[in-house]
Amino acid sequence: MISLKKTLATLAAACLVTGAQTQAADYPSAEEVAAKVANESGTFFPVGSPNVNYEKYFTGQTYLAPLSVKDSINVACVTFIDGAHTFWHIHHGSCQILVAESGAGYVQLWGQEVVELKPGVVFTVPEGVKHWHGAAPGRMMQHLSIMQVNDKVSTEWLEPVDEEFFESLSKQEVTQ
Ligand code: MN
Repeated sequence: MISLKKTLATLAAACLVTGAQTQAADYPSAEEVAAKVANESGTFFPVGSPNVNYEKYFTGQTYLAPLSVKDSINVACVTFIDGAHTFWHIHHGSCQILVAESGAGYVQLWGQEVVELKPGVVFTVPEGVKHWHGAAPGRMMQHLSIMQVNDKVSTEWLEPVDEEFFESLSKQEVTQ
């Protein structure tokens, strides 16, 4: 009973700290990720919690830090570690403004060349356009995501990015 009580207390504490519904034991701690971010160029934004609710739509591990939701505008910081990246997806009902903060990564619209996401780059994904975004292979990347939030906004998740193509990006020079 004591160990069960202790387990429950630990779980409750984990939920308090991360705000996540699920205890993400296999994710590095926010402090470890913060150290990774600190080693990269760019601005250091909050890491937040393991993005476990959406991990089935990502390759690799990501963290989500909600920064502001006001007047139907959502601003969140997403941290992609160790080459993590989204599956292909479409945002319906809103564009998505990506503001790259730190590290190195990419965004790609369907049928177009990849675009580097390096600190200071602002890229707007048009509403209804299939795309993916994330860290460069083996790297980390933080970006802000700015989107509308209302009844008409939804995200349609599609197939993973072709891994052979993704890994080929490591041969490209990502400038800082
Ligand atoms: Mn997106």
